[in-house]
Formats: sequence, C-alpha cells, structure tokens
Amino acid sequence: MSQKFHAPKGVAEYVPPESGRFLAVKNALSQAAELAGYSYVELPIFEDTNLYVRGVGESTDVVSKEMYTFDDRGGRSLSLRPEGTAGLVRAVVEHNLDRAGLPVKLWYSGPFFRAERPQQGRYRQFNQVGVEALGSEDPALDAEVIAIAAEGFARLGLTNFRLLLNSLGDSQTRVEYRGLLTAFLSTLDLDDATQQRAQLNPLRVLDDKRPEMQQKLADAPLMRDVLSEAASDHHEAVCEYLRELAVDFEDAPRLVRGLDYYTRTTFEFVHDGLGAQSAIGGGGRYDGLMADLGGQELSGIGYGLGVDRTLLACAAEGLDVGAERKCQVFLVPLGQVAQTRLVVEAAALRRREVSVDLAFDDRALKGAMRAADRTGAKLAVILGDDDLAAGTAVVKDLSTGDQQTVALDALTDSIQEML
Ligand code: AMP
Repeated sequence: MSQKFHAPKGVAEYVPPESGRFLAVKNALSQAAELAGYSYVELPIFEDTNLYVRGVGESTDVVSKEMYTFDDRGGRSLSLRPEGTAGLVRAVVEHNLDRAGLPVKLWYSGPFFRAERPQQGRYRQFNQVGVEALGSEDPALDAEVIAIAAEGFARLGLTNFRLLLNSLGDSQTRVEYRGLLTAFLSTLDLDDATQQRAQLNPLRVLDDKRPEMQQKLADAPLMRDVLSEAASDHHEAVCEYLRELAVDFEDAPRLVRGLDYYTRTTFEFVHDGLGAQSAIGGGGRYDGLMADLGGQELSGIGYGLGVDRTLLACAAEGLDVGAERKCQVFLVPLGQVAQTRLVVEAAALRRREVSVDLAFDDRALKGAMRAADRTGAKLAVILGDDDLAAGTAVVKDLSTGDQQTVALDALTDSIQEML
C-alpha cells in the first residue's frame, strides 16, 4: 500500500518558479553583508536548550512557548534554533574568534523554527539572513549594521518599508527603568500570566500585542525618558550616522523586541504591504550576552532579516526578482549513438559555464523540440544518424528559427560563438 504525505503544518516550502525568487532574495540580503566585510558561518540547526533559556530569556514567548525541544538518545535536551544570535555568540566563544582582530563580523543564513500559529507570513519553519558584529561599541557600527540591512532590501528594489528605531538603554538605565516600570505595572489590574511575566522581566510586558493591554500600557514610563547620558549620546550618534547615510528612520520610543538580550540600539524594519505580519527584519545591540554565555565582556550588534516575508514584500510591490534562469542550450539526440555523443558534449559545454539541458528517453524530434521551447533555451542542437555520418550537427536558433550546420568536432566552440 502506498501512502501520500504532506509537508508538516506551517512550514515555508518553495518549488519552482517561486524557489528561484526565494534564492534571489536570500542572495541579495547576503551580498549586502558580504560587501561590508562580514564572513559566512554555518551553524548547527539545534543547540543545547539552555543556550536559548540563558541567551534569549525564559520570559520570552520564543523560549517559553515556541521552541521545538526534544531529548536526544543520550538524554540531552536540545532545541531547534528559534533565532540566530545565541548560537552565533556561542560559536564565537567556543572558537575564540574574538582573540583575533575586533570587531568580529559574521553572517549566517538558514532555517529557524518557532511553534507559532501559522498564517500568511508566519511559519513554523522560516528563513533568515543575519549578521552579527562583536567587540566594538562604536555607534558607526550600529549604523553600518542597520544600513546594510536597508541596502539588502534596496538591492531587491523594495521601497515601501520603514525603519523603526529605539534605544533600550544600557545596564545603568535598565536598573532604573525596571524599577519605574515595575512600580507602574503594580498599579494595573493584570492577569496571572502577565503578572508572572512582569516578575521575570517587566520589559516583556510592553511587548504584549493584545489591544486591551496596549491601552493599559499607554501611560507606561518610557525608557527614553530615563536614558543615561552615555546611552543617550550613543543613540544620538547612531541617528546622526544614519542621517549622513541617508537611511530614513522613524523614532519609535515604544519599540521593544521579543528577545531579552537587546540593549541600547534596537530596530525593526516593517513593510506596509504585508498586513499583520509586517516585520521583515529586526535587530539591535546586546551588551551582556557574550559574557552571559561564558565569553569576554564584549558588546555585539546584529540583525535577522526574514527571507520569507521579504519575498512576500517583493510580491506586494510587484517586483520581479530572480526571474528563473533559463537554460541556454538544449540538445536533441536522435538515437543511441547520438545520445552518447551529446551527453559528453553537454558536460563539455557546462564546464565552459554554458547552461545545457538535453532530451532523455529517446524522444522523437517533435516532442524534443517542444521540450526545448519550454526550457526557454536560445539554441537547440539536433544530432541524427545522417549528421553523425557526415560529422556535423544542426544548430537551430529557437528565437529566429534560423538553422545552420556545424562541424561536430568544433561544436562547443561554435555554440559559444553563437550565444
Ligand atoms: P525576530 O528574531 O523575531 O526579530 O525575527 C526576525 C525576522 O524574522 C522578523 O522580522 C521576520 O521577518 C522573520 N520571522 C520571525 N518569525 C517568523 C515566522 N514565524 N515566520 C516567518 N518569518 C518570521
């Protein structure tokens, strides 16, 4: 008995031609990072669960409700990665990458996992391209990170997005703010879960998206009002660099993000054509994370951009990204001997960077030429018994219909000239 399977609920899956556009988006976002001197890292897709509990924070929805956690056969608790920063910082510490020059600048790309309620733009397996720069507190680096995210979107031709910017303060600010916020929250009538949250991390409560909560929080004190002088100067300097770079931003004093490690610079990119799931990327600075994960006391800054949502944003703007790459040449063998010859010619052409496909299964000429048209190839090469005997092949230009006979021994050269 055969059985038909479906992809698991809520995963982002791409097949041609959409997969070609997906790859183009991923490449555009990655190239912006490569051009700014970030080196690629390939990181594991699962990690010790405690890395996320410590790194991302147990009061966050991401860790408390959305992780895919399992015990491996050795009884270790592992989790599929819900975000990229904790794993990357773990790798920097583990490989002592911070012992060479600073800042350490890295980028990554791949799938991430969160057990969320699936909907348009919100998946249980989704994809991010991210960067992290560790070991420098220079506000010019905050601006660089933000600017390369914006550059990635711009490379795709996106225009209908906005950058929201805030400062979540430094450690000094946060102690003071935590006190103020806790005092404010204690005046509100909160449900049990929210009260528990407020005890673990009062900042988390500000991230509550329920309208009735947002209403209750309207008069909450703002971090902005208590920023230390140093944090305020840092924020101002970042804004100034962004103005110099002509990267537009909106002041967003209420922006908090869903992960606990952020301090000082915090930002989010939203796209106005996406409805409810409008965040196409976000990030910020994290001062204590590396030390928390057993490393040196070094600050870092980074972002994670959502590839899936950026692709939806491109569609919303009607952008034709990464039109499927067509094959340049299609080979049509008529008979077994011709097939052997053209299989070899195909390999030779591909070695010369020419993209080549060919007909299989002894297709008749008519069907093979239809297949050639479907691939969008510029040229078709037809090789039958008579051609073989004469030591020639017929090359047809599929856009004009012109045909010419060329010497079989010089086929690869002739084709290269005709492309
Ligand atoms: P976050 O780490 O939550 O700030 O996520 C960074 C970016 O990843 C977001 O701005 C989204 O574009 C994307 N993202 C996060 N969660 C999901 C999800 N469940 N499905 C699709 N994209 C997501």
